[in-house]
Amino acid sequence: MSACPGERGGSGARAEPKDLPAVDELLRASGVASMVAEHGHRLLAAEVRSLLDAMRAQARAGTLGVQALRPDALEAALRSRVDARLAPRMRPVLNLTGTVLHTNLGRALLADAAVRHVVETMARPNNLEYDLETGGRGDRDAIVEELLCTLTGAQAATVVNNNAAAVLLTIAALARGGEVIVSHGELVEIGGAFRMPDVMVAAGAELVEVGTTNRTHPHDYERAIGERTALLMKVHTSNYMVQGFTSSVDEATLARIAHAKGLPLASDLGAGSLVDLAEYGLPREPTPQDKLAAGCDVVTFSGDKLMGGPQAGLVVGTRDAVARIRRFPMKRALRMSKLPLAALEATLMLYLRPERLALDLPTLRLLTRPVRAMRELAIALQPALAAVVAPRFTVEVVEMLGQIGSGSLPVERLPSAGLAIAPAQRKGAGRALDELAGALRALPLPVIGRIADDRLLLDLRCLEDTAPFAAQLGHLQRALA
Ligand SMILES: *Cc1c(COP(=O)(O)O)cnc(C)c1O
Repeated sequence: MSACPGERGGSGARAEPKDLPAVDELLRASGVASMVAEHGHRLLAAEVRSLLDAMRAQARAGTLGVQALRPDALEAALRSRVDARLAPRMRPVLNLTGTVLHTNLGRALLADAAVRHVVETMARPNNLEYDLETGGRGDRDAIVEELLCTLTGAQAATVVNNNAAAVLLTIAALARGGEVIVSHGELVEIGGAFRMPDVMVAAGAELVEVGTTNRTHPHDYERAIGERTALLMKVHTSNYMVQGFTSSVDEATLARIAHAKGLPLASDLGAGSLVDLAEYGLPREPTPQDKLAAGCDVVTFSGDKLMGGPQAGLVVGTRDAVARIRRFPMKRALRMSKLPLAALEATLMLYLRPERLALDLPTLRLLTRPVRAMRELAIALQPALAAVVAPRFTVEVVEMLGQIGSGSLPVERLPSAGLAIAPAQRKGAGRALDELAGALRALPLPVIGRIADDRLLLDLRCLEDTAPFAAQLGHLQRALA
């Protein structure tokens, strides 16, 4: 916990432990009584005790000044402790990293419509699993299944907690106790301990690798199919790219091979955009509808990557395969909560109006933002920021390259613009930059940039409203003073 006013030792007389007030005495003090009235006795008593413990330790060490015991100083120290205790650990930040789908910063931003739907349905009873026509029990999947089928052309759909769960459940339901054939070049680690070979073990299936890191051919799959084969699987290598002398087998060919032997084919897309990004001037990313049309029985993808919704794992496919997945007992343990389900429904609905999507869906809006808009914003913000960080730093408007993030299109970069803050002196430049980055993170609304080439870069792609940023400048000036 940071030092509170009144806890610092001053230069004057030192306080002794015996000078400290008793817990009850402090709780009855006039300024403290109003805090007790607001927050209740329990919280205040706990904070008073911990404040007095901290002060007693300081007094024993001879570092507590008598002025810290003045009623106003005690009250202020207590107030800042109570405020800190009640401040949420999960806080909004400004993502100026240039990565739109930043996994550590919460991935996709929810659309206004999704936030509204969550707020409207969560504080009240709702028909989560209640059929309003019959008055009987309903299925929570029904809330989004028809929408998902309309949007992807699937016969059936189900949803779980995240895409890792969707992949685990798909493999377990379709291949537990059997073999799953996957290309060696697609045995990806998505980060955070999600490795395909480990997922196979967790799902109770046996992995059969075919091909090599760079090349896999149709006959590799054909030869690997045996008595125990239960599933053929394709994994989108979303977070890296094998370039050069490569070949892989597309879904249409794999589907023919699988179906000739009566086996299902699953495809894990990862990011899975529901629209063709090329239509928006962005690099193309495979869509679930393409994969289903190519003959996949199941396609899995994330809700909070390119789809721009809440954390979710979407499973679309044939009636038969989805029914087996839905029936599998593990589904109950991985099911989605009503909260993201409401956000998912509202997000999917935005896709029914594709002409408005680049306005209504924040992920697509940010990805399609013209460089000109960001450059104009940078020019407008530069003077005020330069004044605040001077004389230790200088600020320039620069072009830079951002990225989509969350493993999507790893080699594609998004041309962007923003502000580059550079230390005025070469000597100690590295430390000055670290200090600046720390000061930005410590702001009431933390600002997260990135350090590159001895400069701190603030990419403005994700800054749609300048007011919250401008409101931080006074705090930054004081922090750097
Ligand atoms: C991101 C990703 C996952 C995991 O999805 P989460 O929604 O983060 O659980 C699985 N497979 C691929 C290919 C991915 O890109």
